[in-house]
Amino acid sequence: MTPIDQKDFTDYLADALRQNGMLSFADNASLLDSLYALTQRMLEVNEYMNLTTIKQPRDIIMRHYVDSLTVAAHIPTGASVLDIGCGAGFPCLPLALARPDLHITAIDSTEKKVRYVSETASLLGISPDTLTAISLRAEEGGSVGGQLREKFNIVVSRAVAHLSILGELALPCLKVGGTLIALKGAKAAEEMQDARGLTVLGAAAARLIPTPLTAPDTGKVDHHALVMIEKCEKTPKIYPRKYAQIVKKPL
Ligand code: SAM
Repeated sequence: MTPIDQKDFTDYLADALRQNGMLSFADNASLLDSLYALTQRMLEVNEYMNLTTIKQPRDIIMRHYVDSLTVAAHIPTGASVLDIGCGAGFPCLPLALARPDLHITAIDSTEKKVRYVSETASLLGISPDTLTAISLRAEEGGSVGGQLREKFNIVVSRAVAHLSILGELALPCLKVGGTLIALKGAKAAEEMQDARGLTVLGAAAARLIPTPLTAPDTGKVDHHALVMIEKCEKTPKIYPRKYAQIVKKPL
């Protein structure tokens, strides 16, 4: 693994956060150092485990860290948060480092990724009260009697499924009054059109928040958006359906 210069890394990270309106994070030296440590750890483990195809430090900063942290401004202090399909820890690990006031549960159906996220959180000094990772399928945890059912203020999720599928995984896990925040790319508006059937789960109409991400050195802009869906009523007990059904006949 090519060594990464810590000062170059943290300077670029601070510029990227500042450029994208995250001023308090840019001034948080301990957050910058922790994200440097996370990068080293992720790239080391990535030598023998498939965690990320993004390997250049500046790309990791923009596409994993700044991208993950776009949700932070939309989460109230002390909220309970579920990250569905956390994979290598996005957005949950940067979010836990930036917002230690949160109580994040990260789930993934792949056990070894969950083990990596748990061990990494512990190495980075993240308290289990801030982040706990569990190997679990969202539709199992969110079913009636499941450990995730109607337990969370916020659900976040990135790169897991089309919004119409993600909605059925996420909405049963939210308390009434809670919000799904889906991190999406250029097709966010199109996905919202296709996901209007989510209202049967107790969802209000989806809102689109464009959050274009600008690289501080090149000025290149990546299309990125948050789709916010509030839960205004309890989810009927028949949802979520079995995963094969959800995928075969999305709402
Ligand atoms: N969120 C991470 C990111 O943005 O880098 C990982 C994205 S990865 C493409 C999708 C992850 O979702 C995989 O790790 C997969 O195991 C997990 N996943 C897919 N369906 C799931 C489900 N129904 N419940 C829990 N995890 C799921």
